[in-house]
Amino acid sequence: MRLTVEIDPRSGFCNGVVRAVQQAENYLQYSARLYSLGAIVHNSVELERLKKKGLEILSIDEVRQLHHDVILVRAHGEPPETYELARQNDLQVIDCTCPVVLRLQERVRETWQRLRAEGGQVVIFGKKGHAEVNGLVGQTDGEAIVIGCIEEVDTIDFSHPVALFSQTTKDPDEFRRIADCIRARRPDAEVYDTICRQVAQRHKSLVAFAASHSVILFVSGRESSNGKVLFDLCRSVNARTYWVENASQIDRSWLRDGDTVGICGATSTPKWQLEEIFISLQDVME
Ligand code: SF4
Repeated sequence: MRLTVEIDPRSGFCNGVVRAVQQAENYLQYSARLYSLGAIVHNSVELERLKKKGLEILSIDEVRQLHHDVILVRAHGEPPETYELARQNDLQVIDCTCPVVLRLQERVRETWQRLRAEGGQVVIFGKKGHAEVNGLVGQTDGEAIVIGCIEEVDTIDFSHPVALFSQTTKDPDEFRRIADCIRARRPDAEVYDTICRQVAQRHKSLVAFAASHSVILFVSGRESSNGKVLFDLCRSVNARTYWVENASQIDRSWLRDGDTVGICGATSTPKWQLEEIFISLQDVME
């Protein structure tokens, strides 16, 4: 079969995930084991690689049982209670919270402290229960309202001040629609577009990439929320977009003679995984 294959040059880990994985690997050079609070990256293939080096994923309940040890806080960040727990249990924290998320946590905290005196509400456009969102809600003593879609705007009390923020990996277009809807009901609402610039840039470039290939192989863990958003984006401009977690999931019937195949992924998909997909296609090519 004649195929032209290209890896999206902008795909691969975002800076925050690169930094967290590097810090974990640096630590594991000198230690046989490192505990990570939650999956360091939403990608089972990459997690398996790191587990072989000694990374162990713990839940918050498991961390509660841990004393005098070391834990890694991943790029998504954590609420203040986690740091308090670490202090009480004498846990050393390797804090890999992405600097972009740290700044967002500070802004949410400052805004909440300013608005709460007047009964104001901090609203976060994000996925309920996502680690980054939990970390943001934690800055407001658990009072922030999380909305996952435009329909949930109705849960906001528009008789009081409103400040809107976004989880860093959400869809910029959806954020704009939600912001417009909120401003229509409360013109003085504060709107902070806190989508990570790397993610926003990737949205733009991915649309062009998906449209310029006849078939797209989108590589990501199923549990990645950024993966879901970017896959849907590719699908919206290229109906022949297929989601795979690894090369074994590629169905050859997806490919036709003469296709131009684009390989891309989420912010939690490492470059080496895209290269593996590229190499696996060599078997199909003439
Ligand atoms: S998507 Fe952006 S904000 Fe989130 S971890 Fe990656 S670099 Fe940081």
